[in-house]
Amino acid sequence: MRERSTTADTAEAIACAANLLRLGELVAFPTETVYGLGGDAANDAAVAAIFEAKGRPRFNPLIVHLPGLPEAEPLSVFDQRAREVAARFWPGPLTLVLPRRPGCPVSLLASAGLDTLALRVPAHPIAQVLLRAIGRPVVAPSANRSGRVSPTTAAHVTAELGDRVAMVLDGGACEVGLESTVLDLTDTRPVLLRPGGVPFEALEAALGEIELAPPNDDATPHSPGRLPSHYAPGLPVRLDATSARPGEALLAFGTTAPEGFAEILWLSRAGELREASANLFAMLRQLDRPEFAGIAVMPIPETGLGRAINDRLRRAAAPRR
Ligand code: AMP
Ligand code: MG
Repeated sequence: MRERSTTADTAEAIACAANLLRLGELVAFPTETVYGLGGDAANDAAVAAIFEAKGRPRFNPLIVHLPGLPEAEPLSVFDQRAREVAARFWPGPLTLVLPRRPGCPVSLLASAGLDTLALRVPAHPIAQVLLRAIGRPVVAPSANRSGRVSPTTAAHVTAELGDRVAMVLDGGACEVGLESTVLDLTDTRPVLLRPGGVPFEALEAALGEIELAPPNDDATPHSPGRLPSHYAPGLPVRLDATSARPGEALLAFGTTAPEGFAEILWLSRAGELREASANLFAMLRQLDRPEFAGIAVMPIPETGLGRAINDRLRRAAAPRR
């Protein structure tokens, strides 16, 4: 059965999505970060279909989504510190990497054969109801082709992966708009693997000093998915733009923008990082048109959510694979 719809968040649509997931089908659903491409985490064929649909390298493991800490605990080893962090930040845009428990049903393909698991409890009400309805762990990477810009609306998913999914649950635009923060708690010293929706400062306030994973650890098995080029639109991206180059479009931040750009979209006129995060991926898509020579982006402060915004922009601007 190939049932495709972009229905509203009715209980019926969610129940239908849960059934499709149980049958091994793929369902895209909204989270507060970006739209996820969901599949039954214990079903090898469903997990393989996710890698295939995204064109995702097999060495890049997936995040396992659960409705709460009680559902996450049987899968991984939570020490006191992990339990406290989960209690403080879940549900929310934080992914924890923890040792996998023996007998954990999650497909080894999903975790790329690692002895750890990345776990997240999303806060979005549709994701919450869906995860409770299916009653099983769900893997859900961003619902886009690997390496491209993440989707923050159902329309983005349909445009890019519409023929690969059984259903897209439409929950409107994502509130955070950037992926989760990934924090590795497998060692004594916590390590930030990816900046994201939970600001680094908030984690340090809760945990003390956090190590930063090296900027490009393509070769380290520790965090296999941190590819230098990612989140890339078709057009070249130029960072820290303070003046226009011929034919460029601009993503502006703050009250004034340099003149001479072919088009300007404002990430946030008020200079608010939260607003800029929510707009970033949708505006990158909007400006990704052949009539422009490239997309320039004004400087964004490297604090709070700015750290995650700059991380995504640096990868969008990196030499393409
Ligand atoms: P995405 O699904 O695209 O949001 O990416 C998930 C991120 O989590 C990637 O950067 C993965 O490398 C990372 N990740 C997932 N599982 C693990 C794990 N067991 N250990 C370290 N990093 C992980
Ligand atoms: Mg992704």
